[in-house]
This record gives sequence, structure tokens and C-alpha cells, in this order.
Amino acid sequence: MLEESEARRRILGSVSSGPVLWVPLELSMGLVLAQDVTGGIDSPPFDNSSMDGYAVRADEAKTGDSLVVAIDVQAAGIDLGLDVNSGEAVRIFTGAPIPEGADAVIMQEDVERDGDQIRISDGVVAGENIRRQGGDVCAGQRLLEKGDEMTPARIGLIASQGVPEVPIYAKPLVQIVTTGDELVEPGAPLLAGEIYNSNGPMLQALVTRTGGVGATSHAVDEVEELTEVLGKALAAADMVVIAGGVSVGERDFVKDVLVDLGVVMDFWRIKVKPGKPFVFGRHPDGTLVFGLPGNPVSAFVTFSLFVMPVIRRMLGYPDTGGAGIDKIVGVAGEAMSNTGNRPHYLRGVHESGVIRLSGTQQSHAVFGLSKANCLIRLDPEQRVAEGGEVAAFLI
Ligand code: AMP
Ligand code: MG
Repeated sequence: MLEESEARRRILGSVSSGPVLWVPLELSMGLVLAQDVTGGIDSPPFDNSSMDGYAVRADEAKTGDSLVVAIDVQAAGIDLGLDVNSGEAVRIFTGAPIPEGADAVIMQEDVERDGDQIRISDGVVAGENIRRQGGDVCAGQRLLEKGDEMTPARIGLIASQGVPEVPIYAKPLVQIVTTGDELVEPGAPLLAGEIYNSNGPMLQALVTRTGGVGATSHAVDEVEELTEVLGKALAAADMVVIAGGVSVGERDFVKDVLVDLGVVMDFWRIKVKPGKPFVFGRHPDGTLVFGLPGNPVSAFVTFSLFVMPVIRRMLGYPDTGGAGIDKIVGVAGEAMSNTGNRPHYLRGVHESGVIRLSGTQQSHAVFGLSKANCLIRLDPEQRVAEGGEVAAFLI
């Protein structure tokens, strides 16, 4: 059995980020930039008013001064090329270009208007209420860096530069293959001896949440059907994640079928609980193949520990140093122990720094999993007393 860190090292060994793809801004949310992005234009592109009011010459617009209002009005949208002559003010609105000659805008609230005259009740200084060209961003300035994650604000920034798309790392296509004669899709009736396929939707959701594109297919425990379904999955996807059928049961044909399809097995079984059975291999065309235990909790945990980091690496996210999930340290709200010789990942709930176990810890028990917000990690032989320090990974 492979140590957990060695297994992750072997899995990630051949994985790099990419390929690079240009995507429309509206599809880039949460993705990681594959290149720096540089500004093409000054922003604002021209000096403009930050207020509704009057464009003036500041030295003629002191408290108590009066000015004549010009006939033309400068609104946002088109530059009329107006001038503000001495003794004059030009009516102007927010976002409109500043007329020639003006060096300030006086807010309409700070004047009293009387016909074509205004009387200044609160004077301005030069530059007041003018947003300068390039005051926010200068043409040629580096706006975002390779490795930055796209956020709503960054999408707004790039849009303000008139750029419709950004270079990101393409999302890997992950084909999930569930296996088992006993499985029925949600929505269909359940006959004696059958259970619903919970791994398919759950693993697809994990892929989506990690940033990949997931699709699901199913095969019964027969060599012919497994060969067809797995063959198609290998041809189509960047990664194939199989749930079930990789153990030592008489009807666990997945490993043999994968080998027949040309997959080169790297290892099976990892020294973590749950993590037995776990299969990792590569197809010569580059597709990575993971065989997870069929029990839903085990599938969830092993996916989080060994598949998520691969998807994250492909998408260019920084390595989190262990699993592809964030680690926390908290205070144990109850005693916990691992009497086994493998690291044990238990379902837990953390709240205000206190970490407790979440329900029954059996590997089919999805109710406890559904209540959990972390995986508690206990080392082999580790005993934690109530109030002791315990580590967990957020899920
Ligand atoms: P296996 O790894 O195929 O031996 O499956 C181990 C256990 O997980 C068995 O009790 C299966 O019925 C169950 N199981 C396998 N696949 C699924 C699935 N897709 N959804 C729910 N339970 C599953
Ligand atoms: Mg099975």
C-alpha cells in the first residue's frame, strides 16, 4: 500500500496546467489566468465630470460669483467640442467630457440658477469634480497577472478596457463512470436488492465545484458493457473517474477491463482510510484513470484527496500543499481516536473553531456526510482528547 503523500506525488507527477484557452469574459468567473493581462486604453479615456452641474473656470467660480450659462448642454455620450469662455458656465452631466477652457465642475446643488445666470453659493477649486483621463488605469499598465483568479470585479475591470475575452486554463473534461448491477438511477422505481446511484450525481457535483466539466455514464458488472462504456470514456475525456468495481469481488472487472483497453496501472490501494481499494493508471493517450471505492463516503473522500488536486492543478490553481482542499486546525469538541495503522479521514463539523464528529462514520452513510463541513484527519494511532488540537480539511 502506498503512503498518502507518495500516492499524491505519483498522481500529480505528470500533471501540468493547461491547455490555454481564450474564453468570453462572462464565462471566465472563478478561472485562473494563463497570461498577464495589460491595459490597452487609458481609463477614463477622457477627462469627464463626476457630477451633474456646470463646467467652469475655477478662478471665476468663487463663492458669490455669477456666471452666464451657455446655450449648449454637454451630456454624456457625445463630445460636442464646447468651450467655456470667460464669464461663462456650461451645463454638464455626470460622465460628460469636460469642455475646453473649463478646469472644474460645480455641483448643481452649489449654485442658484436664475434664467441664464448662476450664482455660486459654494465656490470650487481647480480640478474639482473632474475625473482625469488615465486617473484609474493608464494604457499599457499591467492589470492582472498570470495565476490570478477571475472575480466579478476583475471581470468588470477587463470589460472596462473593451476586452471581451481572457486567456485561462481549459477546464478538464471528467467522465464519471459508475458501476454495479444493483444501481438504479434516481427517478426510477427500486426493485428488491437495488439501491439508487448516488455516486454519479455526487461525483459530478464535486467535479463541477472543483472547476472541471463532468459527465456521467453507467455500466453493469459485465466485461462487455464495461469495455464499451470505459472505452468511450477514455476516448472522450481528460480524466476518467470510476466508482465501484475495483475491489476484490468476483464481479469487480474494472481493473482487468482497463488493462485490456491499454491503461497502464500505476498503483492500487493507498494507505489511508477510506482509500482501499483505489486505482490509478494512465492511458497512453494521456487520459488519467482513477478507480474509487463504490461506497459513497469513500468515493467522496478519495475524490477529495486524490482527484481534486489534479483538477485544480490543470486549472492553474495554487497547490494547497496536500489535498486540493483547505486545511484548518481546531479544538476537538469530543474525544477522537484512530486505532488503525492508516491515516483516517472522518466526517466532521467545525463551528467557531470547535471540531466534532458528524454522525455515523460508516462508509455508506451519506446522511452524516451531508451534515459535515470538514474531513477530520487523524494520524495512525492518534488519540485526541476533548479540547485537544485536531486538523481537518474543509469540504
Ligand atoms: P463496490 O466498490 O463496487 O464493491 O461497491 C461497494 C459498495 O458501494 C456497495 O455496497 C455498492 O452497492 C455501493 N455502491 C457502488 N456504487 C455505488 C453508487 N454509484 N451509488 C451508491 N452506492 C454505490
Ligand atoms: Mg460494485
